[in-house]
Amino acid sequence: MEILKSVLEDVIKRNPNEPEFHQAVTEVLESLEPVAKAHPEWVEAGIFDRIVEPERQIVFRVSWVDDAGKVRVNRGYRVQFNSAIGPYKGGIRLHPSVNFSIMKFLGFEQVFKNALTGLPIGGAKGGSDFDPKGKSDGEVMRFCQSFMTELAKHIGPDTDVPAGDIGTGAREIGYMFGQYKRLANEYTGVLTGKGLDWGGSLARTEATGYGLCYFMDAYLKDKGETFQGKTVVVSGSGNVAIFATEKATELGAKVVALSDSNGYIYDPEGIDLAAVKEIKLVKRGRIKEYLEYRPNATYTEGCSGIWKIKCDIALPCATQNEIDVNSAKTLIANGVMAVGEGANMPSTIDAINAFLDAGILFGPAKAANAGGVATSALEMSQNSMRYSWSFEEVDAKLKGIMENIYKNASKAAKDYGHEGNLVVGANIAGCEKVARSMYAHGVAY
Ligand code: NDP
Repeated sequence: MEILKSVLEDVIKRNPNEPEFHQAVTEVLESLEPVAKAHPEWVEAGIFDRIVEPERQIVFRVSWVDDAGKVRVNRGYRVQFNSAIGPYKGGIRLHPSVNFSIMKFLGFEQVFKNALTGLPIGGAKGGSDFDPKGKSDGEVMRFCQSFMTELAKHIGPDTDVPAGDIGTGAREIGYMFGQYKRLANEYTGVLTGKGLDWGGSLARTEATGYGLCYFMDAYLKDKGETFQGKTVVVSGSGNVAIFATEKATELGAKVVALSDSNGYIYDPEGIDLAAVKEIKLVKRGRIKEYLEYRPNATYTEGCSGIWKIKCDIALPCATQNEIDVNSAKTLIANGVMAVGEGANMPSTIDAINAFLDAGILFGPAKAANAGGVATSALEMSQNSMRYSWSFEEVDAKLKGIMENIYKNASKAAKDYGHEGNLVVGANIAGCEKVARSMYAHGVAY
């Protein structure tokens, strides 16, 4: 890195102790060097210095009362990273690991991902260190209401439209939406991932997992391959993992493993998805309960072992940095041909480099998992029109968007001399639109 080296050094100096944010910025800036070379006017206008600094960062106290009557305190966040191409948009993560570094890495990635969808949405992320696991519905509701009481001051259908993420599913979005509606006294599409009876979009629940498979399918087909007959390992067993498993299976693959933060299951005959849906979506249980449905499957404690399972295609759909360089090398040694990132930043930089060096078809998160936010933007469009499209209409639009993202990312990689490298291609294709818009808006933005 030459031109952008000082930008990265500044980020590291100004944001100490934020390793995930440093990692995300490093990965993007390394790809953007050729863009900086091609656009000295953007360098002159400080576009790259500004693009790594959030427009606004909000942190707030969230206090709520648990079932025993005890007052509990959590911390809430919203990082409104960039609004150059549209209102801020990005999910809300509820997980004990949430901190500013994780919020900023996710918000930063979201800017480029949202631009890649071709839809008019800026980038943001929010969340809290609240852990919904093990809490009663009443406790989750009181937390969500308290969280939204503060967040409501900073969002709006034309300002910032949050969505779900880890720990934030339909139940949490419902409680947050109810509280926003009460406070604002208006019925607007201020959140996406809403229930179908009250403004949600068909196919939003499925969108990230389906979109991941549409993206990888386009990629595989471009290389003369398909999902048909392939053995697939999917990590996680949440929203993204479940619907990635569903679509990969529909496309002819056999998914043999899934996990949660305690361990993983291996079912060589192919995952029984109805059982997983019942465990995870109905009972809110643990993945090891799968053995009660399929006694011939195995369960292993710990997460990283899942990458030792031999497979043709790996779809990491749990969380950041779940594939380190050792797991990447094991996957490669076992003959993996494609890796599609459903989670955000699931591979470390060294792991990505190992995949690229080995010629693996690598679909980076900001391109491969953009189907969720793209469909959220379609939910916003439907809310604005006070109209809803059929499942098939939304699904067809999602498929078209994912195929376009693949085409645009691979074209950008080729145009800038990195043919076949979708990490570079996605970063460049996502950046150009945002940079052009920031440039047009002037410096005092
Ligand atoms: P869910 O909360 O529905 O599921 C997350 C899954 O990952 C669970 O199985 C969870 O296990 C596991 N997991 C979470 N944290 C860890 C950890 N530290 N170690 C191991 N496993 C873990 O979340 P989603 O499926 O919505 O999100 C998964 C990933 O996809 C995230 O990176 C998210 O940012 C990304 N993503 C999600 C989108 C969406 O539309 N939902 C859109 C784009 C990206 P456990 O139950 O034990 O915690």
